[in-house]
Amino acid sequence: MLIGVPKEIKNHEYRIGLTPAAVREYVENGHDVIVENNGGAAIGFTNEQYMEAGATIIDTPEEIFQRADMIVKVKEPQPNECKMLREGQILYTFLHLAPDPTQTELLGKAGCTAIAYETVTDNRNGLPLLAPMSEVAGRMSIQAGAHYLEKAHGGSGTLLGGVPGVAPGKVLIIGGGVVGTNAAKMAIGLGAEVTILDRSLPRLRELDDIFAGRVQTVYSTVDAIDKYSQEADLVVGAVLIPGAAAPKLLTRENISKMKPGSVLVDVAIDQGGCFETSKATTHQDPVYIIDDVVHYCVANMPGGVARTSTIALNNATLPYGIALANKGVKAMLENEHLLRGLNMHKGKITYKAIHDDLGQQL
Ligand code: NAD
Repeated sequence: MLIGVPKEIKNHEYRIGLTPAAVREYVENGHDVIVENNGGAAIGFTNEQYMEAGATIIDTPEEIFQRADMIVKVKEPQPNECKMLREGQILYTFLHLAPDPTQTELLGKAGCTAIAYETVTDNRNGLPLLAPMSEVAGRMSIQAGAHYLEKAHGGSGTLLGGVPGVAPGKVLIIGGGVVGTNAAKMAIGLGAEVTILDRSLPRLRELDDIFAGRVQTVYSTVDAIDKYSQEADLVVGAVLIPGAAAPKLLTRENISKMKPGSVLVDVAIDQGGCFETSKATTHQDPVYIIDDVVHYCVANMPGGVARTSTIALNNATLPYGIALANKGVKAMLENEHLLRGLNMHKGKITYKAIHDDLGQQL
């Protein structure tokens, strides 16, 4: 199969679909790989490294989209990329279709077979291709939150770890999955007081075991969100309903009752956000303030640490990508977990939660 790797074109997105090491695995499996000129140069993956791994460097995205049987990317295709896709071509990337009717419509018109990293599953009910990016975003959320709590960046002037004689800051994490757990690890590392809310009691039990008394776990209710958000210095939004838009858990009224200068980091923004006042921002212009509360809602947080993220993502996407290259769309018939990644095929939405969210609008 001919595998095409275009350069990412979204604002400040420096990740790339395949590392040189991953290219070598595809080549070892008998495939040809074409990579866009300088596609990984910004994160230290040079054309020479790709060529040594067996890839051919191509000057334009048009040629890559036209020739490749499978396109491997990181972010959802932008409108002009969607227009270059075609029926019979596999697109293997993050899609996040539920909050994005425009992209869904364009992919429908293109007719390609679109497999979304974020809905591929594993034997433990996990999302193995979302997990590495969630690990990165979870760890970054506390770094970003601590930064914006500084007075000069719009925050209340609170040091999350406190100092001897001064109480630490309070971090509230809504959603105790991969993002939430990694956020908690960083917040604990800084010495903050950490509370995690989740809807899953089994998950709260696991968290209680993992953190051995170092975090407070609380069942997520409207009441708990109201109470703990008023006390928090930093709230991290980390909920997920797979394939569906995020529920708006923190309302405008909750936010208006928060301490002035507190910070919200809505990691779930790529699924539409879990705070009522959230709107997607970029690494270039990451924050805005509503009701004296700083909002950080960068939709591609892992893009900020693009080198770490690209390697972590490739570790997870590689085995499924090789299966697709070796067997084509039939690979999905042999692997129910890969099949769950199928979001669109020949112009139709093939994932129920996305259909339920968007079916009426299209
Ligand atoms: P996950 O499935 O591991 O965890 C989600 C958790 O949310 C689960 O434990 C679930 O029980 C919990 N949850 C669901 N409804 C809830 C509710 N009403 N109250 C409290 N908890 C609730 O998912 P994850 O990998 O941690 O991802 C979390 C979010 O972060 C997703 O929306 C994902 O798309 C997003 N994400 C964003 C970025 C970014 O750059 N912005 C990067 C990675 C992941």
